[in-house]
Amino acid sequence: MWSSTVVEHHRLRQDLAVVRLIGEAVPFAAGQSVLVRAPQNDGVLRRYSPALPPSLDGKLEFHVRMVPGGWMSSSIVSESAPGDVWQISDPVGEMHVDDSGRDVVMVAGGTGLAPFLSLILDVARRPDQPRVYLFVGGRSPRDLYASDMLFLLAQDLPFLTVIPVVEHLADPPWPDEWYEQCRVDIGLPQSEMLQGTLADVLSSHGAFVNHQILVCGSPVMVRSTVDRLIDTGTPKESIQHD
Ligand SMILES: Cc1cc2nc3c(=O)[nH]c(=O)nc-3n(C[C@H](O)[C@H](O)[C@H](O)COP(=O)(O)OP(=O)(O)OC[C@H]3O[C@@H](n4cnc5c(N)ncnc54)[C@H](O)[C@@H]3O)c2cc1C
Repeated sequence: MWSSTVVEHHRLRQDLAVVRLIGEAVPFAAGQSVLVRAPQNDGVLRRYSPALPPSLDGKLEFHVRMVPGGWMSSSIVSESAPGDVWQISDPVGEMHVDDSGRDVVMVAGGTGLAPFLSLILDVARRPDQPRVYLFVGGRSPRDLYASDMLFLLAQDLPFLTVIPVVEHLADPPWPDEWYEQCRVDIGLPQSEMLQGTLADVLSSHGAFVNHQILVCGSPVMVRSTVDRLIDTGTPKESIQHD
């Protein structure tokens, strides 16, 4: 068990926050998840995926989306604050980018983006990088909470292509005060967004026969995307998911 202290709580949407911590170095591998215990729900343990690769100086970042009626996600999004001490334990997970050099297709629904950011930054440290195609999906453009960071990363990392996918091209009519507060002037251009579910967009491509496919997101999104990939001829053994 490792202790880590919240140093920044950045609420990006009504239902989503990015939490940064510094503490004891946690020996996880990029792409894994860890068990988190936070003071607001002492005794409750939930699994979250670090969005940065492991660092010797103990920096951690988590992206947490509030699940309606959820104990831990609600309190992390609305109550966590700098100074809170989290207990981190039990890194697990097999999701990884192998050394075959095959192109990598990452499919992220919502905060399923977090482990992929960790993997992409880890791959960036390698002497040779495979091509990485990151499909990042949401219901509408507003759901793509890391649009600005992804835009900058794609500009800086020549091996990375980011493909935004939204079910609806227009945001819902009701305002999200947190989104309005953190609007920035850069981001993935709306004109480049593909419309549909991630499963629709991936399956319209046809089979991915010589790729590593990694899928992460809600259980429903993962199931439907993996099923459609297999239905369209992508080999099951090429697909990793959490
Ligand atoms: C390997 C792994 C990695 C994960 N990484 C992240 C991450 O990086 N960021 C993140 O925000 N979450 C992540 N999760 C989900 C997280 O562990 C919790 O399940 C989530 O935050 C809800 O916990 P809670 O205590 O708020 O809800 P609970 O109080 O446990 O559940 C409340 C209600 O919501 C339902 N529910 C629980 N989880 C979900 C869900 N994901 N989608 C829809 N309904 C749900 C439950 O069935 C229940 O009815 C990950 C889960 C796993 C297994």
